[in-house]
Amino acid sequence: MTMVKNSLRFLKQCALGAAALTPLAANAADVPAWANDPACQTLTMAAAGGPTPKNPDLMVLRYAGSANFELAYGNTVLLFDAQYEREAYARPIGVKAEQLTKATAVYIGHGHGDHMSEGPQIANQSKAPLFGAALTTETAIKMGLPAAQAKTVKNGDVQKYPGFSVEAILAQHNSRTPEFVKIAGGAWQNLQKATGIGRPEGAPRPTRITGTSDVKVLTEGTYAFLMTFDNGYKFMMLDSSGPITEGERAVMKRIGKVDAASVAYQGYYVPARQIEGTLPLVELFKPDVFIPNHHDETAGSFPDMGTEPLFLAIREKMPAVRSISPLLRAPICINTKTKDIFVGDTWTFPKG
Ligand SMILES: [Zn+2]
Repeated sequence: MTMVKNSLRFLKQCALGAAALTPLAANAADVPAWANDPACQTLTMAAAGGPTPKNPDLMVLRYAGSANFELAYGNTVLLFDAQYEREAYARPIGVKAEQLTKATAVYIGHGHGDHMSEGPQIANQSKAPLFGAALTTETAIKMGLPAAQAKTVKNGDVQKYPGFSVEAILAQHNSRTPEFVKIAGGAWQNLQKATGIGRPEGAPRPTRITGTSDVKVLTEGTYAFLMTFDNGYKFMMLDSSGPITEGERAVMKRIGKVDAASVAYQGYYVPARQIEGTLPLVELFKPDVFIPNHHDETAGSFPDMGTEPLFLAIREKMPAVRSISPLLRAPICINTKTKDIFVGDTWTFPKG
């Protein structure tokens, strides 16, 4: 019989938005029954054959490296971004692109290679539509996606799934200058070499197309996606951290705040500079729960970004926001009705 161990990390989110922390549950009786859902008791992504949540109120999110997220709700499985093949020394994600065959849809926030390199492959395998900006879908077709599965979104477009909808919002990519990328990116590569974690000499580079580097990705090709559940719960997903756009402002004026948000925390190499990109977006979205994305190392391009400086900056400005950064593929189970959160990891799973 499935029993949740008493060491569960059960986070209580006050319905009013003021985060009321329930520390480690004192005993299993303090953990709601819904946290026993098999989808909250495994590291296996639903798109790779893992269980989908049975509880009709339960959304299960999983961070899967780079800016990849999985959202499972009922039988619907959405994948946000798709870079699953990464070069050394980036950590393996623990799941290969070829295992991801059960997606309902793939959403690509923008068409850079570190966001879409396996998007067309996964959409193909799952026979799923791939949604993104025109630049993204054009690139996906060049990468082998059947044109019928390419779904170009524009600001304000909405797709409906059982129990929730997804709205595309024109966002903007981070605004690093070519000069900054050359100097700071070069310094990061030199640091990798100097510390022995540089790209191995002669390691093969992919010859296939992995994305687009069209400069228009920055202003025309980056989208945030807002999930709105029928019970009102809202989750915002944004895979870059650029200047705030009119589209984002208009949506936030309309809805006021979201319940949970994930915003990219990568591009500027050091937290002090990156916080200047990410924090204004967190302030705009006003989530009760914040979950970063893109913060882990992506081989030659980006370093691991410590999340503590960002979380402290958020706590300073918005003390009621709960910032969490669960390990790769750990289930982040959110009861969209009660707004309670349960984060599972192997140390909370039943043994045997
Ligand atoms: Zn990018």
